[in-house]
Amino acid sequence: MNVAAILKTKGRSVATATRSATVQEVANLLAAKRIGAIVIVDGDGPVAGIVSERDVVKAIAAHGARCLCEPVTSIMTHEVITCAPGESLDEVMATMTSGRFRHVPVVEGGQLVGIVSIGDAVKFHIAEVEQEATALKSYVLAG
Ligand code: AMP
Repeated sequence: MNVAAILKTKGRSVATATRSATVQEVANLLAAKRIGAIVIVDGDGPVAGIVSERDVVKAIAAHGARCLCEPVTSIMTHEVITCAPGESLDEVMATMTSGRFRHVPVVEGGQLVGIVSIGDAVKFHIAEVEQEATALKSYVLAG
């Protein structure tokens, strides 16, 4: 299974905010959408940064509630690892494991076309393993 197949089922929508958003606005978005990360757009490329709930917690722990009024650019990760739709699920899971993050935006032709979270990856991995088990069972039973 590849990333394109995952996006076909889960859809291509990505929660985004612009560089001018405050940490408070991004925290509101994370809570309202019940998600773990927001992709920051605008600037030169398709992805200017990413902010996960972990970044918000770290900023509050370090600076207190006053960080909520700061621009999101002050807490976001600027160097974002992305993937292409043609990448396999195994490759994306390896990227998340080695990078120690749980979200990978999908970029195609210079455009942000989706995002894969660790939750998506695990869900589709389990489905893949179940399909393989079913196929093996019917192969054994037929033999
Ligand atoms: P997460 O596990 O996704 O909550 O993110 C953990 C840390 O990695 C946070 O500092 C995020 O800003 C950062 N991060 C999340 N996704 C990515 C990514 N695709 N590329 C680079 N950093 C990321």
